[in-house]
Amino acid sequence: MNVAVVGTGYVGLVLGTSLANLGNNVRCVDIDKKKIDMLKKGKVPIYEPGLEEMVETNLKSGTLQFSNDVAKAIQDSQIIFLAVGTPPNKYNQADLSAVDAVANTIAENINEYKVIVNKSTVPVGTAYRIKEIISKRYKGEFDVASNPEFMREGKALRDFNIPDRVVIGVESDKARDILYELYKPLERVNQPIMVTDIKSAEIIKYASNSFLATKISFINEVSQLCEAVGADVRQVAKGVGLDKRIGPKFLQAGLGYGGSCFPKDVQAFIQTGKDNHIDFEILNAVESVNKKQRVSIIPKVAELIGDIKDKNIAIWGLAFKPDTDDMREAVSVYIIRRLLGEEANIRAYDPISMENCKKIIKNIYYAKDPYDALKDADILILVTEWNVFKSPDYKRMKELMREYNIVDGRNIYDPQVMKKEGFKYKSVGR
Ligand code: NAD
Repeated sequence: MNVAVVGTGYVGLVLGTSLANLGNNVRCVDIDKKKIDMLKKGKVPIYEPGLEEMVETNLKSGTLQFSNDVAKAIQDSQIIFLAVGTPPNKYNQADLSAVDAVANTIAENINEYKVIVNKSTVPVGTAYRIKEIISKRYKGEFDVASNPEFMREGKALRDFNIPDRVVIGVESDKARDILYELYKPLERVNQPIMVTDIKSAEIIKYASNSFLATKISFINEVSQLCEAVGADVRQVAKGVGLDKRIGPKFLQAGLGYGGSCFPKDVQAFIQTGKDNHIDFEILNAVESVNKKQRVSIIPKVAELIGDIKDKNIAIWGLAFKPDTDDMREAVSVYIIRRLLGEEANIRAYDPISMENCKKIIKNIYYAKDPYDALKDADILILVTEWNVFKSPDYKRMKELMREYNIVDGRNIYDPQVMKKEGFKYKSVGR
């Protein structure tokens, strides 16, 4: 099939490349010229394991193309995916200006029947908004569909190929059949292609992310009780998660959720509720627990080192989660800003996201490797649980650190081992 993907960010690039890999003719387009120039040379501007190789293969085979010519891609394709950003506006709603801009470009260039598929995370009703924009100018036949994206950064290629489900929101059999044909190679037992109405599909995305965020805030709140009474939240989460009705995922206590999706999607869902006179009491609590959780380690740091002013603090991990370079709403930024506010000296290391972090935080030292961050440190704070931090050389750490203090924001170390190695150690909920 001839497919256009408008917006070549994390979602659009993974989607376009993966659809090309299934044998479709895909044109990925973006208004960002620099990005497209890089991609034409096979250079991927984001970190996503396996993606650069797949881009290269499909560029070579000719199934994948990159272009800045959005209009031409629209004219030439039967299916047009919208994968542009929907960041929060000043009212914490999804900013739909990029979606509107693409809808207008489609309205100006549509020349025959096409299915316009929205991949961006958008409030319920947006598909109809796109439809209205297009039908003001174009009187021919076309369909708008909702096909929310559930991929996880860092595991995006796997998630495309082995999705838990593909949700397709449509209102015509023709659009349903075309999208079903496109996704059929991915259908497996227990991993259904779910066809539904458009509004329900749009809500499924926000309801899923809000539920996952709820699990995280729930276990983080339970972790506070565990800490207060001397229980171990990891054991509690394991015992709770073994119940098949609950499941073990998203029950890791830590520093709360961040990233480009959960914070903005929970907020936008709350706003959509308000627009419809519904007060999402649970989600308001989920958000406020998360805000507290992400800086909950600051008192622990103070307990170990006393006055934070002028202390040397090493940070391991900056990205909002391992295996991505994405710094959007990363917890590390909130922590570092608080520590800088108290006049600490920061030496930070992250395997992939330091260049992105430099655009947000300038006045800290970016270390060459994990151990360089530890030089003369009074304390180490583990913020993102990259594998490289999981089995460190304790002897080398102690040779470099001024004081042997560790605050582990992700519970990756064993408290007994820490004690044996001579570290003063604090973690979350145990
Ligand atoms: P992104 O910011 O990485 O990419 C968006 C791209 O759209 C950018 O390259 C930008 O230049 C381009 N763009 C903006 N306006 C354009 C226009 N008018 N024409 C053409 N291109 C335009 O965003 P992302 O992380 O890929 O997210 C895209 C959408 O998918 C968002 O709604 C997001 O909430 C949703 N989503 C993201 C993820 C994720 O893990 N990143 C997961 C699921 C859903």
